[in-house]
Formats: sequence, structure tokens, C-alpha cells
Amino acid sequence: MERRRPATASLASQAAAVDASPAPQVEATATPAPTPAALHAKRGVPEGLWLKCGGCGATIYRKEAEELQNVCPQCGFHWYVSGAQRIEQLLDAGTFEECDANLRPVDPLGFKDKKPYAERLVAEQKRTGLLDAVITGTGMIRARRVAIGVTDSAFIMGSMGSVVGERLARLVERATAGGLPLIIISASGGGARMHEGIFSLMQMAKVSAALARYSQSGGLFISVLTNPTMGGVAASFASLGDLCFAEPRALIGFAGPRTIKATIRVELPKGFQTSEFLLEHGFIDRIVARKDLKSEIARVIDYCGG
Ligand SMILES: [Zn+2]
Repeated sequence: MERRRPATASLASQAAAVDASPAPQVEATATPAPTPAALHAKRGVPEGLWLKCGGCGATIYRKEAEELQNVCPQCGFHWYVSGAQRIEQLLDAGTFEECDANLRPVDPLGFKDKKPYAERLVAEQKRTGLLDAVITGTGMIRARRVAIGVTDSAFIMGSMGSVVGERLARLVERATAGGLPLIIISASGGGARMHEGIFSLMQMAKVSAALARYSQSGGLFISVLTNPTMGGVAASFASLGDLCFAEPRALIGFAGPRTIKATIRVELPKGFQTSEFLLEHGFIDRIVARKDLKSEIARVIDYCGG
């Protein structure tokens, strides 16, 4: 299969200051005070019986949405799912073995914005239960063994720091050594993590180089882009799939629409940076609804002789 090169690769050096913060997708409607769970609602599904869909505005019974894998029953909008939920949705039960779970981020620059990065890391770890923004490992998809990585937009917008890059690079190397199909699900609104400066930018090259070696060894890489996939993540591994799938109506791009509009001062085309627009323009190969993703990945692995 022909290997695709990202149209955005030349933008890799500009991976700073990505204004890609996605609009809140789901809001609690019955939360009296801003609890940690309600704050988390900006990026995820909050606690509470009812949810407001960020796609159509309808009030949805939480349980009904959960049964549909966090997809709106009214309009089909695909809401946030955590990395752990994603793995549960995609892999055969009980088959996931996490790798490099103990790699933890450090603060090499002593970086400080609104608060010190070291403090931010601890707060994010506490809030999300993750050490950093990606989960990697191996498991089975309909009895086919795969290497899988999932970024989680709840942890500093799913941005790629040293740990995310290192875990992904090791995953790719594991897939190369084991001859395994590789699946990476991207949910990263933050791109490269500027709190780690050049160390985060280097991850783009490191993971891409590992992917090039994987490709030379004949591996099959399926990249799945979900809402949102932006910045240095979109401009590196997420665009390098032999096949690039996207969930419906996901925001996918480099800089956010507001930043681009403010920079070039023209009206952007309708639907700009959505999965549907990018499919029409050849940037992705197929839009796959969440309910079909597992079967579709299994089918592609079979088709490619994985
Ligand atoms: Zn909806």
C-alpha cells in the first residue's frame, strides 16, 4: 500500500502556539456548583443524569448516550471518550496489556505559565488518573493481535510531550519487532506540548522516524483521527497512516480556525477542518462511525494480510 506523506509536514517547525481548543462538547445540565466533574465536562462527559449535546443542543439521557459509546442518539455527534474507554470499545475484553505504564513526565525547563508545569502535571494526573496523555500497549481486535496507542484529550489537551512521544516511539518499535499491525487513535487538541519546549517538538521527528522504519519493515499503520486532532500531533504521526480514518465531524487540522482566520484574514470555507471536508479533499481515507470502528479495523487488517 502506498505510504502517505502528510500535507502538513512542512508546518512541523511551527508547532508552537496552537489555538485549537475545541468547543465544549457536552455540558452538565443539572450540576448546581462547579464540581471537578463539571469542570471536566468541558472536555468530557460529566457526571449527572442528563447531558447536553454539543452537536445539536438536545438534552440526552446519559445512559442512552453511554450505550451508544458516547454518540448523540439525536444527531450522531461523537463525544469525548477517554483513552481507557476507547481501549475497552476497541479491544477484545481482557486482552489489553499496557506497556511503559510507569514512564512519567518531568519538567526539564522549569516552565511556568499560569502555574508551574510541575504543579500542572500533578493536578492533571490527579484529575484524569493518567500519568500522561497517551496509553499504549498490545491486545486483540476480533482475535487479531495489534499494537495500539490512544491519546486522551483530557490530559493537557492530549498534547505530545516527551512521555507521549517516547511511549509512542516504543510502541512503534514493538510493533516493528513483533510484526504487529499498529493502531493509533489520536484525540489531541494541544499538538506539541509547549511546556516542554524543544523536547516536545523533537517527539514529532522521533515518532515519525520510528514509523518510517516500521513502514520499511512492511508494517500496516492505521491512524484514527478523532475530535480533536490538531497541531504537532496532526503534523506528525496522526497523518502518517497507511490508512487514515476519522470519526464523523471531528475537528482535524494544524492551527485552529480562529488563529488561521485572524492570520490570513479571509473567510474560511464552510466545514473547514472537519472530517467531511478533509475526506472530500483527500486528506483522510474514510470516515468511520464509532460503532463500526472495531469491525472496520479488523477488516482492513485482514485485507492487508496482517
Ligand atoms: Zn446531538
